[in-house]
Parts: sequence; C-alpha cells; structure tokens
Amino acid sequence: VRLADLTTLRVGGPARRLVEVDTEADLVDAVRAADAAQEPVLVLGGGSNVLVADEGFPGTVVRVRTRGTTLESRDLCGGAFLRVAAGEPWDDVVALAVESEWVGLEALSGIPGLTGATPIQNVGAYGQEVAGSLARLRTFDRERGQIRTFFHADCGFGYRTSTFKGTERFVVLDVTFQLLIGRMSAPVRYAELADRLGIALGTRAPMTDVRAAVLDLRRAKGMVLDDADRDTWSAGSFFTNPIVDADLAAGLGDGAPRWPVADGRVKLSAAWLIQQAGFGRGSQLPGDGRAALSGKHTLALVNRGGATAADLVALARAIREAVLDRYGVALVPEPVLVGFADGAGL
Ligand SMILES: Cc1cc2nc3c(=O)[nH]c(=O)nc-3n(C[C@H](O)[C@H](O)[C@H](O)COP(=O)(O)OP(=O)(O)OC[C@H]3O[C@@H](n4cnc5c(N)ncnc54)[C@H](O)[C@@H]3O)c2cc1C
Repeated sequence: VRLADLTTLRVGGPARRLVEVDTEADLVDAVRAADAAQEPVLVLGGGSNVLVADEGFPGTVVRVRTRGTTLESRDLCGGAFLRVAAGEPWDDVVALAVESEWVGLEALSGIPGLTGATPIQNVGAYGQEVAGSLARLRTFDRERGQIRTFFHADCGFGYRTSTFKGTERFVVLDVTFQLLIGRMSAPVRYAELADRLGIALGTRAPMTDVRAAVLDLRRAKGMVLDDADRDTWSAGSFFTNPIVDADLAAGLGDGAPRWPVADGRVKLSAAWLIQQAGFGRGSQLPGDGRAALSGKHTLALVNRGGATAADLVALARAIREAVLDRYGVALVPEPVLVGFADGAGL
C-alpha cells in the first residue's frame, strides 16, 4: 500500500502492512499484536500532518476508522460533554457543535484530519486550540498494555504540543470535550477573524458566522482540502512559529511580527522569517517545479503534482538553512516525519 494515497501531501512509499480498524477493540488489538511481534507501528488518521519518506514505512500502519459521537450530558451549568471516537472526521465534529449550539470549537473549522489526532499537537487556529475545550481523553498505553485516561491538566498542552507529541506510547481512543451552551461564539481572539466579522477583538459573533468566516479565510489561504487546488496538497503549516529569547527577537528590528509568551520569551512569525529569507509564496528550488511553497501561504509546502518526499525535504532544508543563516533562528517542522532515519536533517 502506497502511503502517498493516504496522506494529504501525497508522498510516501509503501507500508509493509496496512490494517484498517473500525472498532475500538480492533484498534487496540491491532496495536497490541504488532507490539507483541515487535513490529513498528504507525497509527494513521487522515494523514494530514505527516511527511512519509519515499522508502515508506517498514511496519504496520493502523488506519483509524472508529466512529461515534456521544452526548454524555448537557446542562446549562456544566455545559455539553461530548465524547468523540478517534476516527471521527474533525470538521464534522465542529459542524455538529456549531449546529447544536455548543460553543468553543467554531474557530477550528476546516482543519483536516481526524479527532484522535487533534490533542497530539494541540490543534489550533484563529485564536482557539482544542486544549481550550478538551476535558479528557482515553488512550491505549502501549508501554503498560492498558487503557489510560488523561484529564486536561495531565495532557501537557502547549503551543502545538502535548504529552502525546513526539512519543508513540499512547494511542488516542476517544476525546471528550466540555462545551458551553449558546448561539454566540466564544470571544474572538484573532484580529483577522474579528475584522472579517466586523466586530471588536475579544467580542462574540453568531457561531454560524464565525464558522463561515473561518472557512472563507482558510480557503483563500489554501487551508481547506480541495483535490482541484494543488495549493492544498500540503500538511498545513510546515514550520511552527519559533519561540525565542527576548534578546534575539529584539535584534530582528521593528518590522518583525512578535508576540510575548508567558515565560518572557517571544513568539515570532515563521512565515515572515521565511519570506524575509528569500522564499516568497510559490517559491521552488531551481530546476524543481514539483515541490513548492503554496501560492497562497508562505508557510505551506505543497506537492504541485509528482513531487517526492525527497523533493519536499530538500526545499524544507533550504528554507530552514536560509532562515538560520540570516536570523540565527532554527525552524522546527510541524508535521511528523515518518520513515526518515535521521529526522531528514530537519
Ligand atoms: C490544508 C491543511 C490545513 C491544516 N491546518 C491546520 C491548522 O489550522 N491547525 C493545526 O493545528 N493543524 C493544521 N493542519 C495539520 C493537521 O490537519 C492536524 O494536525 C490534524 O489534527 C492531523 O490529523 P490527522 O488525522 O490527519 O493526523 P495524521 O496526519 O494521520 O497523524 C499525525 C500524527 O498523529 C498521530 N496520530 C494520529 N491519530 C492518532 C491517534 N488516534 N492516536 C495516537 N496518535 C495518533 C500519528 O501517528 C502522527 O504522528 C492542517 C493540515 C492541512 C493539510
């Protein structure tokens, strides 16, 4: 099975074995059996946050297709507790929440992939993160061979990270969200979204309007999957926004966008750094038109059709080196690199 067919970047060689699971018991059994056979395991959701090597994956790929959303309770004080199976497509969950007047996920509209992956990198966009509404999640702990529940405070959530990022120990089985009840959105925390809605930053708008505005903004940036639009053949943002010491940030000059973070350090815009280092929208390496920066968004590396993982890695390395040379900032890739022995030099 070519993993290129299961990932949004549409690159990646074969998996030794592919198992599709549509019940939680089958998911646990498949992972347990591969572990017992000492076979490497890749748990795959929608394939929208992975870059798989051209050599493929020398083990078992377990493709999660478990479905189901359960409203555990709903009252005005406690809000709605919604338990969602790992294999539910994320945007269907957001659409359901908006339609049901459950508040807190609306700005996360249009993000590809499945619900079980959302806690891994604490998916976020337009001023919201899943951590803002996630109450608990159930996992299969591969080390202990047991089901283990994590409550919000134990998930180690941060900017694009959690306890579950960078480890393969936990397989997410389901995620429970606690959502306020109402027709109006959570306060809008993202200036571009507030502008689009014609409201002041920090105020609310009808949730249906927020969802529509987010989808519009995302489409214009190639951030909603569309087979016909190769600017969406990506893994979303390829680099995270770097968080650096205040001194380094100050040295970048007045033009550099920056946001203070809680520990005194400063978050920079990866898109700005990339652009300033000479890679604008649509950039490619000389002689290679197959891997490129999106024509709509500087942060997305895209497969223009026929690119290999090696093409994408070469472009990513060139961008990373250019930013490091010019600003001394090491960009970190956001997607999970699969099947690369040395982290692909990234
Ligand atoms: C066009 C586009 C736009 C995007 N926009 C955003 C955005 O705005 N914000 C954002 O945060 N991300 C964004 N992304 C990235 C991506 O959509 C999210 O990270 C998403 O949550 C990945 O889900 P997935 O099911 O596709 O995960 P996959 O790509 O299948 O997997 C990603 C990682 O999670 C692990 N994993 C998946 N499911 C499980 C599970 N059940 N248990 C344990 N581990 C698991 C995998 O092993 C892998 O390491 C975007 C991607 C694309 C292509």
